[in-house]
Amino acid sequence: MSTKPSEILYLDNNATTQVDPQVVAEMMPWLTEQYGNPSSVYRLGRLAADAVEKARSRVASLLKCQAEEIIFTSCGTESINSAILSACATDPDKRHIITSTVEHSATIKLCQQLARRGWEITSLPVNSAGCLELECLKNAIRPDTAIVSLLWGNNETGVLFPIQEIARICREKNVLFHCDAVQAIGKLEVHPSQLGIHYLSLSGHKLYCPKGVGVLYVGKRVRFTPLLYGSQENSRRAGTQNVASIVGLGKAAELAAQHLTEKRIRIYRDTFEQAILKALPGTEVNGDPAQRLSNTSNIYFPSTESEAALLLLDHAGLCCSAGSACSSGSIHPSHVLKAMDMSNERARSSLRFSFGRFNTEAETQSAIQIVVETIQKLKQHSPNNGPVSTAAAPSWL
Ligand SMILES: *Cc1c(COP(=O)(O)O)cnc(C)c1O
Repeated sequence: MSTKPSEILYLDNNATTQVDPQVVAEMMPWLTEQYGNPSSVYRLGRLAADAVEKARSRVASLLKCQAEEIIFTSCGTESINSAILSACATDPDKRHIITSTVEHSATIKLCQQLARRGWEITSLPVNSAGCLELECLKNAIRPDTAIVSLLWGNNETGVLFPIQEIARICREKNVLFHCDAVQAIGKLEVHPSQLGIHYLSLSGHKLYCPKGVGVLYVGKRVRFTPLLYGSQENSRRAGTQNVASIVGLGKAAELAAQHLTEKRIRIYRDTFEQAILKALPGTEVNGDPAQRLSNTSNIYFPSTESEAALLLLDHAGLCCSAGSACSSGSIHPSHVLKAMDMSNERARSSLRFSFGRFNTEAETQSAIQIVVETIQKLKQHSPNNGPVSTAAAPSWL
């Protein structure tokens, strides 16, 4: 039984994406009759191994790198952890790590853990537009810097870091560079070997593939210390491969290359954003509007509370996001918006909309209508037009 509402307007593609039906079709045999273990020597196993290698070549061709540089993992988080921990293990005398204040929690939480174990962490600040100063990076690199780990495209604001320059600085200073390209892949050209990036992380479920599969690119001249020990993936990532999902990721990579030049998603995002800014006075875009992923719009709605807005939008069938939910289900103001020097009030009054391959022009138009009506309703009910408290929200929901 499906519990998905019949009319759902999904504008949360930075959280996860719908699996492309072509990916599902390619995966099906590997979930049914083709159940071999890729490490087995008989035909059933060899077929699975061939399928994994085909997927590896497809991912390599999207990244314009060599197949041997691709390691399949269980998720983006594992790839990120593996890259940073590899650098720490490979050169244990280097006890300094550089990252930024706006990274994904996979990077931030690992660095907090490493700080407890004695590593020194420099978190580079961003300006109010979410951009990074290259001078800050240059000044932060030290002889004992083990690795620089930075996002390419920010999952909350879409703001892009200048990865080409960052990679060049790291090369010049002879320090390892890991790039979290989970949001960049499929939206822009990501060619790590051409840029001299040492490690790069990807995730399947942000690329129209199922959850639970990821990629770690490791440049062929880069030393690598595994996170898990065992024999698979050339002893670089142990554990029997998730054949079906890896096959799916290969197909997803092929489709990503075909969709890369498409302007459709950017047009929906821009149409949506401009209509909202025009219809709702006082609204503003969070993050540099030019240096941004083409699908993401993070908008400040003054005198509204994002938690109440999310409830109402969900009621109308629209999925978007605000900050990150904690275990109790309530929402923390986004650490990314806070790092951009925004007030708590602004961070709590902002929503992220992220478009994807399966959105349509008609959906864009309904989304505009739903968001405008919802925010207007929210403001009418807001006492003195100040922020609405969520405690007051349910009585008139
Ligand atoms: C989703 C995401 C991750 C984590 O990927 P998972 O596969 O969910 O572990 C890491 N970085 C960014 C930027 C992301 O958006």
